[in-house]
Amino acid sequence: MESDSTLISIQTAQGLVLKYSTVSSAILDMNLNDALDFVLAKDVISEVDMPPFRQSAMDGYALNMHSAIRYAVRGEVKAGDNANPILKPGQAVRIFTGAAVPDTANAVIMQEKVTVHGNEISIQMPLVTEMNIRPQGSQIKRGGLALAKGTKLKGVHIGFLASIGITKVTVYAKPSIAIVVTGNELKAPGIPLEHGEIYESNGTMLSAVLRELGYLKTSIITVPDAYDQTKNTLRKAIEAHDVVVVTGGVSVGDYDFVGKALKDIGVEEIFYKVKQKPGKPLFFGKKGTVSIFGLPGNPAAALSCFYIYVYPLLKKYEGGTDTQLLSFLMPIASDYEVKGDRAQFLKAQIIADSVHVLGGQSSAMLQAFDTANALVFIPENTNSIKKGTPVKTILLPTK
Ligand code: AMP
Ligand code: MG
Repeated sequence: MESDSTLISIQTAQGLVLKYSTVSSAILDMNLNDALDFVLAKDVISEVDMPPFRQSAMDGYALNMHSAIRYAVRGEVKAGDNANPILKPGQAVRIFTGAAVPDTANAVIMQEKVTVHGNEISIQMPLVTEMNIRPQGSQIKRGGLALAKGTKLKGVHIGFLASIGITKVTVYAKPSIAIVVTGNELKAPGIPLEHGEIYESNGTMLSAVLRELGYLKTSIITVPDAYDQTKNTLRKAIEAHDVVVVTGGVSVGDYDFVGKALKDIGVEEIFYKVKQKPGKPLFFGKKGTVSIFGLPGNPAAALSCFYIYVYPLLKKYEGGTDTQLLSFLMPIASDYEVKGDRAQFLKAQIIADSVHVLGGQSSAMLQAFDTANALVFIPENTNSIKKGTPVKTILLPTK
């Protein structure tokens, strides 16, 4: 049996994924409305001033200020009106939020602050030049940087780009991803189980998590524990995709054919086995520009390894340099006894200002992920951790 000391560390493994993976720099132009969760491949420069005119921030009166407190009201300007009435000092127009302030007005007063006397108003408060007027281009000026290359377009970004009249954006093409699930025992949910069978969940889960991250189209391919089928299926998956994520079949059991099949197809092994729990038999390799991960079959281990190793590669595809999940130190909520000496990722829940390690840490148990919003990282050779000790807490991206 090999000793743990010959295995590479998590940090080394993460570094190797980023170092040896090749990402395509293909870009495409697309309609803004279709660009949710795509990443900008170019800066977006505003072609307009926003607001495009001096804009009233209030319902009230636009004034040409003078030294007396009374103003004569000469008509109104509503939002959307193409009007620019000329006001002499001492004259005002009724104005509404979002309307264009006349060029000859130099203040807007809130309607709550005036007293109306027929066609006149009186004002009992000091006026300040340009009060309640949003200057033209105060949000962004024509030629200004609206959003930087590398921004992943979420709803707010799409709204902002729409607000400056953008209809098309240039984004990075997304990698095509195949999930290959291996195992004779796997049945699709909906079909009654025979003795010895279990329901397939890794493919369904990983494709759903990928959708949460904006990767809408993934192929899920199922393969039994048979060498020829594993080899043929993996070869085809590698030919047709940029990233292939295999689950199961990567350990050392007699029916674990993934390692041999990948080797025989000509996949270059970058690493196999990491000194970690869960996910010791993790595999990463490449063939041409295709990245291939072999994740554990146990669902909770597969998901943790997905977040720790596959997610950073997706960030690399998105042009990001900041590829790891956000992490910070947080006090652990209770004493924790660490089993074994490998580094560990524990399913955990941040509640208020501390992090709780959840029950059900077994690699086979997915349920603890229900409430998990983080993984706690325990470095190798840690014995016991006292309540209140700061621990590295990795925020899951999909909560
Ligand atoms: P393996 O890595 O193939 O030895 O699988 C480890 C454990 O994970 C076994 O109990 C498998 O039955 C289970 N497993 C493997 N693949 C899946 C899957 N796609 N869905 C659910 N459980 C799985
Ligand atoms: Mg298996």
